[in-house]
Amino acid sequence: MAKYTGSVCRLCRREGTKLYLKGDRCYSDKCAIDRRPTAPGQHGQRRRKASEYGLQLREKQKARRIYGVLEKQFERYYVQAERMKGITGENLLQLLERRLDNVVYRLGFASSRAQARQFVLHGHITVNGRRVDIPSYLVDEGDVIAVKESSASKMESFKALREGTDKVVVPWLQVDYDKLEATVSALPTREDIDVPIQEHLIVELYSR
Ligand code: SF4
Repeated sequence: MAKYTGSVCRLCRREGTKLYLKGDRCYSDKCAIDRRPTAPGQHGQRRRKASEYGLQLREKQKARRIYGVLEKQFERYYVQAERMKGITGENLLQLLERRLDNVVYRLGFASSRAQARQFVLHGHITVNGRRVDIPSYLVDEGDVIAVKESSASKMESFKALREGTDKVVVPWLQVDYDKLEATVSALPTREDIDVPIQEHLIVELYSR
């Protein structure tokens, strides 16, 4: 599958906002957008007034980049969101939020969605007791997500998580850090999803 292999900080600079793609570095003074907040490239410092289409496009790209989803897959999420009951934009965000790699990140089991994706791909994560190595797997209400016991006892990052005091609170996930296990207590609502995305712009883009 095609994969973006360039600098991820460049993506933040393009969107003009922090997308938190690099884990701990994003919270340090090494963050590229804090040091150089202009768009990348030769003409990055120019201020251009974005068209309506431009704003809609940027919002879609921002969402794609935050969740690490490719164009085609994002389109499929949109089609699925349209078919669901409720507000399409909110459905779209809910689908993205339910991805297993995002859930692992939300739980604090990984410092970025990219790292969470690696953990899933490498088989460190189970859902309802079975290993799931598909980052796009959509969790459902009642699912139990856990770090595989052998990984939890061997890998330093998981051991540190058990012993650490920085626990993450996610309204729709009930976490037991001793067991490194969480239950999806409810599907996320828009209020639970703290991403800086104006989803109505994405809906407008696809409705053109
Ligand atoms: Fe974005 Fe993180 Fe890079 Fe800052 S450090 S520009 S938030 S990916």
